[in-house]
Amino acid sequence: MSLSGKTAIITGSNSGIGLGIAHTLAAAGADVVLNSFTDRDEDHALAAELAKTHGISARYIKADMSKGTECRALIEQAGVCDILVNNAGIQHVAPIDTFPADKWDAIIAINMTSAFHTTAAALPMMRKAGWGRVVNIASAHGLTASPFKSAYVTAKHGIVGMTKVVALETAEEPITCNAICPGYVLTPLVEAQIPDTMKEYNMDRETVIRDVLLARQPSKQFATVEQIGGTAVFLCSPAADQITGTTISLDGGWTAL
Ligand code: NAD
Repeated sequence: MSLSGKTAIITGSNSGIGLGIAHTLAAAGADVVLNSFTDRDEDHALAAELAKTHGISARYIKADMSKGTECRALIEQAGVCDILVNNAGIQHVAPIDTFPADKWDAIIAINMTSAFHTTAAALPMMRKAGWGRVVNIASAHGLTASPFKSAYVTAKHGIVGMTKVVALETAEEPITCNAICPGYVLTPLVEAQIPDTMKEYNMDRETVIRDVLLARQPSKQFATVEQIGGTAVFLCSPAADQITGTTISLDGGWTAL
């Protein structure tokens, strides 16, 4: 499977799943655009390292996915977008009656509304190129719920809905739109919610990992960024030409429960 000649833009990709997907797409030959809201030397160094490792062209473009204008500017600045991976995401864990309103707004903006803006800006480029793939990184929380994650679960269900709409609007074109729904992956985002969850449930770290995080993941294993990247590459392959408007779970059986 070669993605040579294709350009992939991955939002929120200076860390975790986004960076893992960027590596897998680059290994398959795609040129990549990395993104986050910072503009540090190490962000640009990640792009240089990707280019060197995989012999592709890579750039880092700063854009804050909580702002619609910057979401659209990311795509415009890249100038070409064959593969759009909407991955940027944050988390906050608290009961709904004390859930901070600013955290709600940020999660809805970054985890859901950003995909509206980037997709709207990218579709005309895909139509011009005659091929396109939109891959939304949703979550098992796009299909099921957990307590204390009202904004995240709302945003992830929203992006699964948006995935279906984009698929229907592009159904007769050589463009597909799907959502990948991972269970728990041990990235900085998950690391960051362990302390709050320890507090909510009054548990130590090991117990939170075993009895809370992986409680609903029957395989008792974290999914990996490589597995998610491999699924994104599959969605870009000819075998997936008729896969659109659906979700692919990488959750060790969570949503089978
Ligand atoms: P992470 O914290 O490692 O990565 C999140 C990325 O989003 C980072 O690159 C960060 O810089 C970026 N980001 C945050 N705010 C941004 C903003 N305003 N503008 C631009 N970029 C921004 O987390 P991760 O676990 O790799 O999460 C990536 C995606 O995968 C998220 O959408 C998350 O909801 C989803 N996901 C994660 C898990 C998991 O267990 N880790 C499971 C299911 C889904």
